[in-house]
Amino acid sequence: MIKERIKSLAQQYKSEIIANRRHLHANPELSFQEFETLAFVQEQLSKIGITDYEVKAKTGIVALIKGKNPDKKVIALRGDMDALPIIEQNDVSYKSTKPGVMHACGHDVHTASLLGAAQILHEVRDGFEGTVKLVFQPGEELIPGGASLMIKDKALENPRPSGIIGQHVMPLIPVGKVGFRKGMYMASADELYITVKGKGGHGAMPETLVDPVLIASHMIVALQQVVSRNASPKIPSVLSFGRIEALGATNIIPNEVKIQGTFRTLNEEWRSKAHQHMVSIAKGIVEGMGGEVDFEVRVGYPFLKNAEELTDRAQQAAIDYLGEENVVDLDIWMAAEDFAYYTQEIDGCFYRLGTRNEAKGIISGVHTPTFDIDEDALEIGAGLMAFLAVKELES
Ligand SMILES: [Zn+2]
Ligand SMILES: [Zn+2]
Repeated sequence: MIKERIKSLAQQYKSEIIANRRHLHANPELSFQEFETLAFVQEQLSKIGITDYEVKAKTGIVALIKGKNPDKKVIALRGDMDALPIIEQNDVSYKSTKPGVMHACGHDVHTASLLGAAQILHEVRDGFEGTVKLVFQPGEELIPGGASLMIKDKALENPRPSGIIGQHVMPLIPVGKVGFRKGMYMASADELYITVKGKGGHGAMPETLVDPVLIASHMIVALQQVVSRNASPKIPSVLSFGRIEALGATNIIPNEVKIQGTFRTLNEEWRSKAHQHMVSIAKGIVEGMGGEVDFEVRVGYPFLKNAEELTDRAQQAAIDYLGEENVVDLDIWMAAEDFAYYTQEIDGCFYRLGTRNEAKGIISGVHTPTFDIDEDALEIGAGLMAFLAVKELES
């Protein structure tokens, strides 16, 4: 049976997958600079015997594994490869050798798992019909997102997959388990850069000034109405400001105040309406108080919707592979992920790989200097991905 074959291969290749992950972890590269990572992936694919690959978007790569009757159906598996500008604080043998760069989002795990899945699928290619397309992408962490560049470079063409499956580490879920969610899953994320301009001067003579600090304060409070009053309660939305810069002093009112924030939601139509609301509320308040405002919305990733049927089939396959007790339902997650771009083109399923182990002290969140995983997750990361691809080709 193919499930047993995949399981035993995942076990057999486990130490190699861990070694690959450690190599990638020790040699992280920032978004769109994944040249060594690309070379490593190419080398590993060649070692496996997969020669049908093509470089895309400068540091990405797409490879094909053909089963019997390769034109019957095509399913894509995706792994992202970039690291973050973080100084690693873990004291491990595979610690980052590049100061200030760290695989703190688990993309080393995703790449190593996808290589492991490739090795398994190549081995069992006589046991399935159709083609598996491997998508190793760069730059998930940085706008405009490697996924959008891979799509522009025709990663989803020739052949076009019917669906794409991606996995991401989840330090909230214990190792051994995975999580799925159908429909709306992750948020769009837009960056807001606002400058409120007034007329500065001595703090003791407000009647001669236009105080941008007071105006900005009113504006921030008023903008919360976009989420509390303009948004439908049925659509999750969040508006947060994390930076306010007024470079005055106790008795000096500055000429301007700079503000930065983020707006996230799960509906594209509401998203663009919200942008308009925010700009018009800001203008109304600021101009009404005698100031001027520059309001820049830097549009980020779209929201991520998991295709109902594909995700349902994948979840059932995961239950078959891991047992019902090891497959959990996920809640909506207001972070953003560029996998969303694929889901705008074809059916997508983005699921979570549990990596937590409290007994070993592995509890840190992603994007922190102490993030790490329980490496037992890699056997599942590789084996389950291979199994999901095979099951999807059978469906
Ligand atoms: Zn990340
Ligand atoms: Zn990530």
